[in-house]
Amino acid sequence: MSKSVLEYLGETKLELGAVGAPVESDWQSGIGEDGIAWLALDRQGSSVNTISQGVLRGLADHLDTFERDTPKAIVIRSAKKAGFAAGADISAFNEMSDKGAEDLLKQGHDVLDRLASLDCPTICVVHGAALGAGFELALACDWRIAIEDASFGFPEVQLGLHPGLGGTFRLPALIGPTEAIALMLTGKTAHTDNAKELGIADVVCRERHVKAAVDAIVAGQMKHEGAGLLARAFTLSTARALAARQMRAETAKQAPAEHYPAPYALIDLWEEHGDDADEMQAGEIASFARLLKSETSQNLRRVFFLRQGLRDNAKGDDGISHVHVVGAGAMGAEIAAWTALKGKTVTLGDVDNEPLAKALKLARKICNDKHLSSAESRDVLDRLMPDPKGYGISIADLVIEAAPEKPELKSKIYADLGEKMKPDAILATNTSSLPLSGLADKTKAPQHFAGLHFFNPVSKLELVEVVAHDSTSSATLDRLSAFCGAIGRLPLRVQDYPGFLVNRALTPYLLEAMVLMDEGVPKEVIDRAAIDFGMPMGPVALADQVGLDICLHVAESLREHLDKPMLDVSDALRKKVEEGHTGKKAGKGFYDWSDGTPHPEHDNEGPDDLTDRLILPMLDACVECLRKDVARSADEVDGAMIFATGFAPFRGGPMHYAKSRGNAEVTAKLLELAERHGPRFEPDAGWSRLG
Ligand code: NAD
Repeated sequence: MSKSVLEYLGETKLELGAVGAPVESDWQSGIGEDGIAWLALDRQGSSVNTISQGVLRGLADHLDTFERDTPKAIVIRSAKKAGFAAGADISAFNEMSDKGAEDLLKQGHDVLDRLASLDCPTICVVHGAALGAGFELALACDWRIAIEDASFGFPEVQLGLHPGLGGTFRLPALIGPTEAIALMLTGKTAHTDNAKELGIADVVCRERHVKAAVDAIVAGQMKHEGAGLLARAFTLSTARALAARQMRAETAKQAPAEHYPAPYALIDLWEEHGDDADEMQAGEIASFARLLKSETSQNLRRVFFLRQGLRDNAKGDDGISHVHVVGAGAMGAEIAAWTALKGKTVTLGDVDNEPLAKALKLARKICNDKHLSSAESRDVLDRLMPDPKGYGISIADLVIEAAPEKPELKSKIYADLGEKMKPDAILATNTSSLPLSGLADKTKAPQHFAGLHFFNPVSKLELVEVVAHDSTSSATLDRLSAFCGAIGRLPLRVQDYPGFLVNRALTPYLLEAMVLMDEGVPKEVIDRAAIDFGMPMGPVALADQVGLDICLHVAESLREHLDKPMLDVSDALRKKVEEGHTGKKAGKGFYDWSDGTPHPEHDNEGPDDLTDRLILPMLDACVECLRKDVARSADEVDGAMIFATGFAPFRGGPMHYAKSRGNAEVTAKLLELAERHGPRFEPDAGWSRLG
């Protein structure tokens, strides 16, 4: 053991990540003169720790030694700057499922059981995130010390799973089942103070006080709080049955059982075996292995990798520190606030003062929604400067134009910007529906001009379309993609095309809903069908939320520029816009929003082809975009539709859904719909290429 490793492990004197020469193991270990053994997890070849079979085997080797020759205490921590451990190695899940997951899980459980039953105190020191299997490793220790930025959580539900390495029984035993199951069902993380309050962390301290905290534990100066009386009440099956019923009802509001089986499997498991840790353990292993094979989990794991794929497009240095946003309306205000929240300096211009004042209010709200401390919020507001005179334009590295959707107005703005902007600065437009080719002519440097199409609300929807026109330079596209990464958004590279990808695909879905309403199908029935399919909200409510004026504008623009027959824009939509009932922002659209988000309920069934009429045109538009090279791959299309529109994630995206249903069957269905309802359903030529 080199001195530097011991120094780091025993006294944490070295900076994290600066641990001597690389060692060919996922674990580094040492014993100090005080007899306390230190184990540092340092997964080889990765900047982040994940818990793989290799990591658990490495731990088992150390346990062999500790069981023979037990130290005074064992401290487990991470040698990575990035945090404790991000969870299990998800890339190994498919193989694990094929190779007999139950056996592999049992081996993992065996290792953590051995750790849990060692005769000496075991202490886990957590900095950064301890998630999933990382959290389970921490739970198998007797004590947990949380360093200031620590967080604990079980994000497995987002992958269609529940904890699988002992979390389902170790966390309830530690903090009581009510809080424990809630954490597992929601996937939420508990940060330091909250973790201490819940009883997950025994100590919260600064890095420099870790050794003192370890010594206090070893000296017997610390006490566990215990899970409390309430936890004991749940040893009664009647109490668990009652609580389980409530949990199921709460869960059903977020995730229907037929699409998301994992939370219900967890509740069943706890209801049945919550009074017996051994049975919980056996049940957890069997249930996790079952869920691993489920289509929902396979698709949600796919979504995880789709996000990673889009994130990979966002690498590199954007060279952008100052952003100027033109227009402080619905979009400009959101873009400016979010960009400032993510650390950029932002100036925000508008011809009116009122939107600027509203933008600052909105920024405050977003800071609150994101649980920023008052000091952090103050920093965000310091970085966001109202700039009615446009002083920021000449020093900005990126100017984002979010002015009203009027070509003449945008042209005038570009002429003014061209006089003031730095020669190498990028000009990006947030336009939803204007062809970039027409706008590029009006800019001084078309090679530095592109689309940066955010979705509303920017603080919630992760996707941004980075739109190229014929003369955009690849350096501009790379910098804009990297900018998206820097502000925590996912860039999708697309070509200039009516509606780009997302609005091109979404518009037929929204318009078909309006045709159905014209045919007399109640809006609640239409929206219910889409929600039952797995969409986060129905098309009528979505149109209201986007703004009916914007829907109308996008629909008209698409009709004008596409060579495919689109729907006639419904009279009902036009009438609503004329009446000023433009949707949620006006308090009224097709729905009345004055009492909050509507919950569409209706007893009618609707026509038998209702769901296909809504969903298949969306799939067809995606195929058209691929054929026309608007988007680069089916995977990117799937990711984009999920992260911009919430397209049923458990179905893995529109292209994946088409594939699993059968591309030939989808084409046949489209032909049938075309015969029944008109040529707008005719399948795109691109389907034949998909096989
Ligand atoms: P908006 O009408 O809410 O805001 C536009 C703002 O620009 C207003 O505050 C207006 O005062 C200001 N403005 C007008 N002329 C200006 C000028 N010469 N200089 C500076 N500011 C000026 O519009 P919006 O909904 O925020 O849309 C802006 C752009 O974003 C449009 O191109 C739109 O297509 C696009 N977009 C909108 C949405 C959406 O959901 N609203 C989504 C994606 C993209």
